[in-house]
Amino acid sequence: MYQKEINFSKFSSIKIGGIKIANYIEDEDEKSHYPIIGGANNILISNDIKEVFILSKKFDYIKINNGYLHIGGATPSGKIVNFCKKNNIANFEWAYSLPASLGGMVKMNAGVKEYEIFNYIDSIKTYQGYIDKKNIDFSYRRTSIKDIIYEGVFEIKKGFNQELVNKFANFRANQPNIASAGSCFKNPKEKYFAGEVIEKVGLKGYRLGDMGFSDVHSNFLVNYGKGSFDDAISLIELAKNKVKDKFDIDLEEEIVILKGTSINSK
Ligand SMILES: Cc1cc2nc3c(=O)[nH]c(=O)nc-3n(C[C@H](O)[C@H](O)[C@H](O)COP(=O)(O)OP(=O)(O)OC[C@H]3O[C@@H](n4cnc5c(N)ncnc54)[C@H](O)[C@@H]3O)c2cc1C
Repeated sequence: MYQKEINFSKFSSIKIGGIKIANYIEDEDEKSHYPIIGGANNILISNDIKEVFILSKKFDYIKINNGYLHIGGATPSGKIVNFCKKNNIANFEWAYSLPASLGGMVKMNAGVKEYEIFNYIDSIKTYQGYIDKKNIDFSYRRTSIKDIIYEGVFEIKKGFNQELVNKFANFRANQPNIASAGSCFKNPKEKYFAGEVIEKVGLKGYRLGDMGFSDVHSNFLVNYGKGSFDDAISLIELAKNKVKDKFDIDLEEEIVILKGTSINSK
């Protein structure tokens, strides 16, 4: 393990968090560390956290072995899609322009519409060795994985689909182009989309300091410049309360809030 400083106000996609000591993990036998960070595209991290853990470049790899792709936990999504395109491999087209590392995608069961990573995964590697998908509990934007994901394994299916990539690129055109962590809330089980109920309670474009619910897509909590962790949390609470009052819906964060010493990512 080696250490380096990371400024999360620059590194994280939502540009919040300040400077922290990052412990770079180089060996697979590490057990569990809090918090483990991938590309920091789905997290809101408090200034209270002074240290984080992150997989080193040693885990940035894609290997082909007996008809399976073995992808290291630190491998960026863009590199995976490019590799699939070059080698005519299907099933990662949805990850085009989804900012992520493989570890973060697996932990979050990331995806777009009906495409999500657990549709395609075969197994993951943690300190316990390889674990089959059938032994992992997962659902929409969540998994039960508590350990560090060192690798994901995927059966190779031929046929990269450029049309799908183009479709996802168009889909991104309707999303805000400023600092955010993607969707703030999961879509509720009820008939509404999260963005719809946020808009209906009057919070589309609503700002607190430099943080706000985007006027382009209300489910994106965006940072207009010097947004703070506290203002982000206040906005999240405000939306949850208003939506509960008006629709009796309990909005659940998709964004992972990292604070103190306990994991709140579900
Ligand atoms: C503009 C924008 C658009 C987005 N659009 C989408 C979208 O369409 N669909 C979607 O699903 N997501 C979307 N996201 C969210 C984000 O891209 C995904 O959640 C992605 O999977 C996060 O990956 P990451 O490596 O950045 O993880 P991080 O944000 O660093 O971490 C996310 C979670 O994964 C855990 N984690 C990270 N690495 C590991 C590891 N190696 N082992 C164990 N746990 C780990 C962290 O502890 C944390 O709980 C978007 C984000 C942005 C900024």
